This record gives sequence, C-alpha cells and structure tokens, in this order.
Amino acid sequence: MPVRTLLWKNSLANSLVNCPECVARERKAVIEREAAEGSQEGLQKLIEQIEIPMKFDPVTKHYICKRCGLYATREQVGDIREKVNRRDPTKEDKHYDYLDWWQKSKKDKV
Ligand SMILES: [Zn+2]
Repeated sequence: MPVRTLLWKNSLANSLVNCPECVARERKAVIEREAAEGSQEGLQKLIEQIEIPMKFDPVTKHYICKRCGLYATREQVGDIREKVNRRDPTKEDKHYDYLDWWQKSKKDKV
C-alpha cells in the first residue's frame, strides 16, 4: 500500500502541469456560461477548479496536451501561461464585455 501511494504521488507531481491554452479557453467558457446565467456565485471557485493536466514525456522532458496538442518544456509552459494571462483581461472586464454584447444583440433583434 505505501508503494502504491508513492507511485500515485509521483505521477501526480509529473502531471500537475496544466495546459495554459486549454485552461484559458475553459476559463473563458466558464465565465461566459456563468454570465449568461447571471450567477457570479462560485465563479472564482469554478475557475480555480479547472484542470487540464498535460502528459509528461520523461524521454524528451516535454509536456504534451492531449486536447490541443501543445508540446512544450516546463519552462515554455510557464512562458505561455504568462503570455495568456497578460492577453486575458480581468474577469470583471470580460463579464462587462459580455453583458454589453448581450444587451446590444438583444436590441438588434427587437
Ligand atoms: Zn491544451
């Protein structure tokens, strides 16, 4: 049993790199969905719960995202995450943009 726990811990440590591109996409979807439902409750929690673990290849020391195919070293993943975060406006901005768009589109329809 202790061996099993140790193995599980090791694999967890290796896989705990989330794909920054997929996380950003997922985060956007969650924010838009919550905005559409008009619920802000637990939004931060939902965002924090997003996990898109990348698979680690010990031979090439690269992480691979099975979803979008991103292939990068841990350092590159960190760089991409930084860029994605910089590119992303704050969630308040996004929420506002979305509402703005929604109200405009409603007006257009009428
Ligand atoms: Zn990905």
